[in-house]
Amino acid sequence: MVNAQNSSFMIHYSNYINGQFVDSPDTNKITVVNPATGEAISTIPDSSTEQVESAIAAAEKAQPAWAALPAVARAKHLHGLADKIREQVEPLARVITEEQGKTLPLARVEVNFTADYIDYMAEWGRRIEGDVIESDRPKENIFLFHKPIGVVAGILPWNFPFFLIARKLAPALVCGNAIVLKPSEETPNNAFEFCKILDQTDIPTGLVNLVSGYGATAGRALTESPKVGMISFTGSVETGSRIMATAAQNITRVNLELGGKAPAIVTANADLDLAATAIQASRVINSGQVCNCAERIYVQRSVAEAFTAKLVEKMNAARYGNPLEDETIDYGPMINKAGYEKIVGLLDSAVSDGAQVLCGGKRGAGEGGYYFEPTVVTNCTQGMDIVSQEIFGPVIPVVVFDAIDEAIAMANDTEYGLTSSVFSNDINEAMNLVEALNFGETYINREHFEAMQGYHAGWRKSGIGGADGKHGLYEFMQTQVVYLQRS
Ligand code: NAD
Repeated sequence: MVNAQNSSFMIHYSNYINGQFVDSPDTNKITVVNPATGEAISTIPDSSTEQVESAIAAAEKAQPAWAALPAVARAKHLHGLADKIREQVEPLARVITEEQGKTLPLARVEVNFTADYIDYMAEWGRRIEGDVIESDRPKENIFLFHKPIGVVAGILPWNFPFFLIARKLAPALVCGNAIVLKPSEETPNNAFEFCKILDQTDIPTGLVNLVSGYGATAGRALTESPKVGMISFTGSVETGSRIMATAAQNITRVNLELGGKAPAIVTANADLDLAATAIQASRVINSGQVCNCAERIYVQRSVAEAFTAKLVEKMNAARYGNPLEDETIDYGPMINKAGYEKIVGLLDSAVSDGAQVLCGGKRGAGEGGYYFEPTVVTNCTQGMDIVSQEIFGPVIPVVVFDAIDEAIAMANDTEYGLTSSVFSNDINEAMNLVEALNFGETYINREHFEAMQGYHAGWRKSGIGGADGKHGLYEFMQTQVVYLQRS
């Protein structure tokens, strides 16, 4: 059973290696806290290089037999895992909320979406296709096969910690790979609970392993290993860059899902109610700690006042609090003090450069946790840090533009390139904007949120490669081209 915890009971989790929950007494421990209260809720190992290497060895041993199964047989195991997850939605949601701070309804969505995602990826079992290529030579056939890579390392962030397990594990396994997961040290409990569920399935021993720890210890040991064929990482640009440098030593393949600074362009032809509703929704969800969230608004001058008034009204209506105590709130605390301080720093600097806080702007009430009021900032200009750096909180800067070309230039003027959105009821204007925007994803007249059958891939510093759908799946395989010369 999943441990739905309470603060009077502190559990210690052990690594999941080769089908066993194992620990060593001399391993350093990390304390995990509930961000809503600051209370300690669990301890986890800060895994040594030796422990990480034993997880990689278990994965390496289990992988060939798994790869030898027909993909449809692998898929059946994944469907079984998805079914088991669905039996535990409520306790899993509580574990996620307790350590991450998202609302319980959102945590339930995350658990159900994770099960659906595993099923979706499993459905590719019968759909993996190679190519038959025309040869220049008589009596020759050229075949292109897609083959597993071997051992995949899945390194996870804290903002959607449970779903991100599936985003790495499901395509890796259906393609015939084994995996070693490393959850974020902020939110590891749900990943250990995931392993308890996985342990009850008939997924072969050693195929899925989990080691916890800090990036500089367990994370680094995983990325340094020559036995890891692919590193699938989601997290910040800084860490992505460090991982790439480490991976370069062994020319290990990297798949990087990094940060974002999504522009939302609201033109004079927009439905302003819809725009304000969608932007508010994508800004307060998970306390604004989502890579694809609208992070900066460009609004056309003629509608700027009316739009901003609607946005302020909707942001003001957002309620925050301790998510385990109140299910009706819109968002919970920031993940930690550093996340809170980043917001304060960006706001202070914007205000000193002439920005105006229309609502919020302060630490929110709440014992022990770092809460932040829903905040709208106007009079912002392109040069401000709040317009160029990832905020990752319930705070939205607004910049006014006159001509559409001006909005395009400002939206594209960023080192990030993950998502973007356009609000306009003029289809020609909307599609011209889409053509001009240099981002991996663009949403028209809706909130920022991707589908599992899409392709979530950032341009520029937002990443390399992508996740989801057919294109995301094929990243977990390498090709073998076979030349058959008949006599
Ligand atoms: P982070 O980069 O601080 O940490 C992510 C993971 O990397 C953690 O497990 C951490 O322990 C590990 N790590 C740190 N240093 C490492 C190293 N040297 N080697 C190996 N592993 C290391 O990110 P975070 O704060 O957990 O997550 C927030 C960030 O993630 C934001 O920037 C957000 O935009 C991004 N994100 C992106 C996507 C996407 O799909 N593009 C999705 C979610 C989050």
